[in-house]
Amino acid sequence: MKTIDRARLQFLMQREQRRFVDERPKSKALFERAGKSLQGGVPMNWMAKWAGAFPPFVREAQGAHFFDVDGHRYIDFCLGDTGAMTGHSPSAVVKAIEEQARRGLTLMLPTEDAIAVAEELQARFCLPSWQFTLSATDANRFAIRWARQLTGRPKILVFNWCYHGTVDETFITLKDGTAQSRRGNIGPPVDPALTTKVVEFNDFGALQQALAEGDVACVLAEPVMTNVGIVHPEEGFHRAMRALTRQFGTLLIVDETHTICAGPGGCTRAENLEPDFVVFGKPIGSGVPGAAYGFTHELAERIASQQSLVDCDTGGIGGTPAGNALSLAAMRATLTKVLTQEAFHQMIPLAERWAAGVEKVVVEFEMPWSVSRLGCRAEYMFSPQLPKNGSEAHDAMDFELERFLHLYAMNRGILLTPFHNMALMSPATGREDVDHHTRVFRESVRELAG
Ligand code: PMP
Repeated sequence: MKTIDRARLQFLMQREQRRFVDERPKSKALFERAGKSLQGGVPMNWMAKWAGAFPPFVREAQGAHFFDVDGHRYIDFCLGDTGAMTGHSPSAVVKAIEEQARRGLTLMLPTEDAIAVAEELQARFCLPSWQFTLSATDANRFAIRWARQLTGRPKILVFNWCYHGTVDETFITLKDGTAQSRRGNIGPPVDPALTTKVVEFNDFGALQQALAEGDVACVLAEPVMTNVGIVHPEEGFHRAMRALTRQFGTLLIVDETHTICAGPGGCTRAENLEPDFVVFGKPIGSGVPGAAYGFTHELAERIASQQSLVDCDTGGIGGTPAGNALSLAAMRATLTKVLTQEAFHQMIPLAERWAAGVEKVVVEFEMPWSVSRLGCRAEYMFSPQLPKNGSEAHDAMDFELERFLHLYAMNRGILLTPFHNMALMSPATGREDVDHHTRVFRESVRELAG
């Protein structure tokens, strides 16, 4: 198998950086102007991490494509890191948004759309009770709060190198077997080791040991890890985790924010997971902020018995624009008209095609890499075998190499999800988009192989 020639990689990277800057004078000028009013020249700190010297500023996006201010057209495989998995501005959702915008945006009162969306979520995830938030982060935070409240236990458990949004408790990783604050964790309110246990994905023994202590309110898990590459559960792991959580009185929160790529009801439906809570955000409103969490009948009754009318507005579960009329109109149109079963029938074969194209290149140039896929999401990883847990996946990451491949792709009209190597298919993505990626990826690897 090939090893990467680092000097060659750096030479190619410099060439690509020059091309990126030379071809984007308008984005460059906007970035310089932005530096005078936006911290780091970007509206959100992580936007500084894109592979170019600055992020391309967007002029407009439609379907699976967007144009930057310099007129470059991109195939968007990032799709707002799943927020735009519907494709950008799908017409059914634009229509619903336009109609709702004329009738009021936010009221602190329900609209009929809230019921329609909850009914649709009931049918998809087989959970009867739903609540809305503005972000998946908040939905996770609120599910955790209820889990603590209902069990009277102080801790939660997550899997090593997970990501569930900016939930304080989850910024914890294992280092030499010990739980520690995650590298780069900014201003944690308390040491996360006080609030959280962390074990490796697929490690049944460690999970059993951690839960047996009887102090864990909930496990918060993606059914397939998607934020450190795609890491699949081993056969029987979910069944075992569900049995263990039940045995030790721990609630199970399944975060389907990304794994909705597996189908209309995510892995919960596809794999019959039986969680206590499900969380679903990002693409639920085609990019209009909104998220939801659902729970079982038993939990709904226990929650009802604990809610007090006097304090329900100040109990730590809130968000003034949560459940607003605009978000719910967008969610209703998204779920009934865009992210349908038929759409998945179209999207999933495209991800299979993308993965097969990448795999062929990896074999042709004998790269020590592997390709993983879940539904309409696919990813290449820099390890010869697919990682079995977060540590293996994290160890396989290669910042320098990843930046080169992303920048090479960007210079040739392709946007991949930053921070790992993921591609997502939308209902608007076409075969020609996938094939263009395969050609560009092959060219980049050919150049790298020398
Ligand atoms: N859950 C998962 C699995 C995620 O990947 C993310 C964000 N990448 C979130 C929750 C949080 O979503 P948001 O940033 O929209 O709150």
